Amino acid sequence: MNRRKFMKVAGLAAVVPASSASATSSQTNNILQSADPLDPIDLGTGPSLTNEQLTERLRLLAQKNDRMDLQRIGKSAGRRDPIWEVQIGDGDTSIHIINQIHGDEPFGTEALMSIFRRLVDGNSRLVDSILDNLSLTVIPRANPDGAMYTEDENDDGEEQRLGLRQNIQSWNSNHSHQRPYYHVEEFPGDERGGYDPNRDFNIKPDFVSTVDDTPDMWQTDDDGEPTGVLEMERDGHTLEESGVQATPAVEAITRSFLNADPDYAKTIHSQGLPLDPETGEVTILSVMAPYGPMYAEEAPFGDPEEDATADFVNPFLDQETSDRGIRLNELCAQALEEYAGPWSAFETGTRFGYTTLWGSYLDTLCPQTDAAGMLYELPGQTDSVGDRAYYMKVEATRVALLESFTQLAQDPSLTQTGIEVDDYFDRPLAEGSYEEGRGASDVS
Ligand SMILES: [Zn+2]
Repeated sequence: MNRRKFMKVAGLAAVVPASSASATSSQTNNILQSADPLDPIDLGTGPSLTNEQLTERLRLLAQKNDRMDLQRIGKSAGRRDPIWEVQIGDGDTSIHIINQIHGDEPFGTEALMSIFRRLVDGNSRLVDSILDNLSLTVIPRANPDGAMYTEDENDDGEEQRLGLRQNIQSWNSNHSHQRPYYHVEEFPGDERGGYDPNRDFNIKPDFVSTVDDTPDMWQTDDDGEPTGVLEMERDGHTLEESGVQATPAVEAITRSFLNADPDYAKTIHSQGLPLDPETGEVTILSVMAPYGPMYAEEAPFGDPEEDATADFVNPFLDQETSDRGIRLNELCAQALEEYAGPWSAFETGTRFGYTTLWGSYLDTLCPQTDAAGMLYELPGQTDSVGDRAYYMKVEATRVALLESFTQLAQDPSLTQTGIEVDDYFDRPLAEGSYEEGRGASDVS
């Protein structure tokens, strides 16, 4: 069954209220509003800024004063729209953040804009502390193609801006010896198809397509047919499903990351609609830290006795880096719960089950600089649930980011937080899905 069509029929009764795209933002944000599960759902990106609007607002902010530096670090593959990098602060602790590498996951963009405005305009001890102690390097929209993707989803002659996970970019044999498994050949709204950029990274930052991906590194099935799975060898480990770095976004992000030399790396996403196993409600966020083999016993999707280490934990992350990442993730989850108070929707923070993904930003880039990593997952992509609870998701992102900046400015190693590694592993794993029959963690 078509996923989108199913969502329209089934509706969503919990976090996301029934409302149409024409509803006001306050209605859209009112999670207490009763919802009829049979109400139709309008899909789309709603109030999310267009690429043009985002560019205009970033430029205005950067022109305002010298606290913020704005650079165009690349162009998207299909639309040739700018990929922007924002730098704020000149402190010793470097933090690299990417947002919306999946174009149908826009909620962090507005949160980041809100934080930029506060840091550029604000005069307070908190702002001073962040500017003095942190160096923030932020890519607010890593996938401008996906952010603007439109499709006549209802066949009524009207294009809707739905958002898209991938970029818009044809595959060709100059990119790699096989078409990678994460390239989709064609979309209803664009016959060029596109890559999932968060599967396109490679552990080797200077990886060159068709030079470094020799044919023997590509898997074939039992019939000798290509599977699109590239294997990289590194320090005795086989890294399956590595990316080929064919997308301009990944090239730009990798360069930005290495220049920033970060101590921390964060990536903001949306997942399906997984549940908090304790409350049965859709979780408002899930956090995930990449970690090394010292926590193999805690890894939810691997068996240390049977599976290769690199299949489920990152062998290139040491104890200290792993612990910082775990504390950072737990800090953000706890901050949101404390901030929310009686707003119960914020008290359903879960843990996103970690397993290695050798084409992803965190697993490939964190080891380059011993960066502690964080994946921040909000519920629901715009092409499956529309913009419902938009401002709640924006706020959830804003609070967690700002709280982590506040703490890191005072305590760069996060050793004074009182947070223990066990606190993170005690956090319930997101499980199930609001939509019956659909995995919670398959798309994020
Ligand atoms: Zn994502």
